[in-house]
Amino acid sequence: MAEEDPDQESTANSTLSRMLAGNRRFAEGHSEHPWQDMQTRESLIDRQNPDAAVLSCSDSRVPPEIIFDAGLGDLFTIRTAGQIIDDAVLASLEYAVDHLHVSLLMVMGHEGCGAVALGAEQLDALIADSTSDPESSLESADAMAELDERIASSDSIVLRSVGMSVWQAREAELDTSEDFERVHVARTIEELVTRSEIIQDALAHDRLMIVGARYQLSTGKVEVLSF
Ligand SMILES: [Zn+2]
Repeated sequence: MAEEDPDQESTANSTLSRMLAGNRRFAEGHSEHPWQDMQTRESLIDRQNPDAAVLSCSDSRVPPEIIFDAGLGDLFTIRTAGQIIDDAVLASLEYAVDHLHVSLLMVMGHEGCGAVALGAEQLDALIADSTSDPESSLESADAMAELDERIASSDSIVLRSVGMSVWQAREAELDTSEDFERVHVARTIEELVTRSEIIQDALAHDRLMIVGARYQLSTGKVEVLSF
């Protein structure tokens, strides 16, 4: 095992500060487009040493390198619709943590996420289907548990992942798309930590910090979420 770096936490914090400073430049229309020149490209041919890994949505309006005003070699990014996790996403993040030694892992959702809306739609369809049986009612604990089970065992990864986040948000009486997007980021982080021993180990040895974030399309700003 690699020796622990006592400065890893401050490295993660300064990486986050640098990303947020880049986001401020972007949001204010003063992007500097750093590290995108030929010299930088040539200096990175033999190696990469990114500071952070970002798991975010594939949405064409949310490219991390642009919204954090970052350059070549800065961010290791993984993007799927609704930042849904599967084995390939996990393996990519584990590579970033274990081999590239990123100190920061950001999971970023965003305003107006179509995948989150789709998850809510699929959940509603499932609920409508479940309650068409007059014998059943969503009010009973049994019916709730059964719905939980039907979401978890669905063929749709959107329903299993995002739909479950929407369902849990609603159970906590959170009902706006903004709430769903935030809860989904929180649940995505939970799932990452639960499923990956490499990530658990890096957290336990203070080699990694995980932050949740949400990008606001309307302002261009990234808010760091606290759960
Ligand atoms: Zn999205």
